[in-house]
Order: sequence, then C-alpha cells, then structure tokens
Amino acid sequence: MSTPQALLHATQVTKRYGDFVALSNVDLSLHGGEFVSVVGPNGAGKSTLVNVLTGLHKPSTGSVRFCGEDIAGVGPVELATRGLARAFQLVNVFPELTVRETLSVAACSHLRTRWSLFSNVHRDDKVRAIVDRTMRAFGLDRDADTPANSLPHGRRKLLDVASAFALHPRVMLLDEPTAGVSTADKDGVMTTLLDAAKHLGVEAILLVEHDMDLVARYSSRIVAMMAGQKIADEPTDAFFRNEEALAIVVGKGHA
Ligand code: ADP
Ligand code: MG
Repeated sequence: MSTPQALLHATQVTKRYGDFVALSNVDLSLHGGEFVSVVGPNGAGKSTLVNVLTGLHKPSTGSVRFCGEDIAGVGPVELATRGLARAFQLVNVFPELTVRETLSVAACSHLRTRWSLFSNVHRDDKVRAIVDRTMRAFGLDRDADTPANSLPHGRRKLLDVASAFALHPRVMLLDEPTAGVSTADKDGVMTTLLDAAKHLGVEAILLVEHDMDLVARYSSRIVAMMAGQKIADEPTDAFFRNEEALAIVVGKGHA
C-alpha cells in the first residue's frame, strides 16, 4: 500500500510479549489534517499501538515510518524533537515543579537546550516564548506558579497534554487524555486541545478514546481494534453505520 504523503505510516506491525500477540499485522496511516481516533475494548492493543508508533516499544515485525523515515531504533525523546510527540507524563515525573517549570522542560527538549532545575533556563527568551504561548493556548496562565501536584486532577491532565504540545510536534498522539476527567469537563479538554493544535501548528492527531460521543464529534476517521487486530478503519460517519464494528467497540461496557 503506497501512501506517499502520510506523516506517520505503520506497515504490518506485530508486537509480541513472549507468546502473547498484543498487535497483529496492523497497517495504519496518518495524514496532515487528520484527526484519527483509535477505539476498542480494554486490552485491544490501543496503548501498545501508540507505544510502537512513538518508538517507546519496538515492533516484533513490521515497520513504522515518520515523515518517510523508518523510526526503528529512534527513541521517543529523539522522535519528539523530530516532531512526533505524545503526552510526556512530565507531571508524574516531576510533580513538585510548577506549571511554568514543567512546560519549560518540554520547551527545552524542543529547542534541544539542556534543562536544569538550578539554571534559569525558563528565563531564556525562546523557552519563555514557547512556555507562555502554550500556557495561553491551554488556559494555564493563572496556574503558572502552581506546583503540578497542587493542581486539581483535570488541570494536571491538561498540563500533561500541554507539555506534549510545548514540543511543537507535527503529529500528536494522545492516549486517553480525558481519562479521569468528568464527562462535563471532557468537551472542554477536547476543545482546548483542538484550539491549541491549531495555534501551535500541529498537523495531525491520533487519539485513543473510550468516550464514543467525543469520538463521534471530533474525529475525521476511526480505527477500531479488537484483540490486537484492526477491525475497522473508516471515515467517522461510515464507522457509525458499521454496526458490526460498533457493537464490538461499545458492547464491552464502555460509555
Ligand atoms: P488497550 O490500551 O487497548 O487497553 P494494551 O495495548 O494496553 O490495550 O494491551 C493489549 C494487551 O497486551 C493486553 O492484554 C495487555 O495485557 C498486553 N500487554 C501490554 N503491554 C504489555 C507488556 N509490556 N507485557 C506483556 N503484556 C502486555
Ligand atoms: Mg490503553
């Protein structure tokens, strides 16, 4: 299958853990302008797919290309600086850092500047510009000096997503960014995220999400997974007419 303009392209990716096959011959492409949601029951292989697509885990067989280059052996940090990012979970790694400091770690990574808690790198103009722009895009300005671990859960989650955006990626992969966020707040997170993507020049988004209402509202295409296999890959409206795939995805107890 030839898709020359795909930003991200997985070909026949299989991932085994011992004898267990977590992903089986998965093909996937992501093009500029797309918002693709990956759905499926728990254990379907969605997170494994994200891990393989971002270079965190190596596929057992098959290949992944980002902007035409094979990412085999390229670690997630290097990939992030090349423009392929996922939520960093910096918030969990450095819970005592403030919002501004957390975002400056990500900004330094983007600028390939060494970050140190003891330097004043967050006063650097370029770092500051990225941090300020990202805080504005995510409405986190008022929390600039709040330590991450003092933020309410929803805003902590938002900071995590924001730190991935501070890397100024071309492609953003998000694994359940609204997990643990109240249903009422989920739309807010999604709208903020999409606005930020527009402002920060993100070209394509791949989202893992359980909430089918969100998926229906925001995705241009849906990839459904079950037991490590891709069972559907189609435009959103076609997917919601695909009763067989839909039953598998929503039939397993997810709202
Ligand atoms: P999902 O995100 O769709 O819920 P995952 O990709 O996390 O599913 O997991 C798919 C399957 O692979 C699950 O059965 C899980 O237990 C297994 N799995 C995931 N990561 C590992 C690992 N590091 N070692 C062994 N099994 C794993
Ligand atoms: Mg998962």
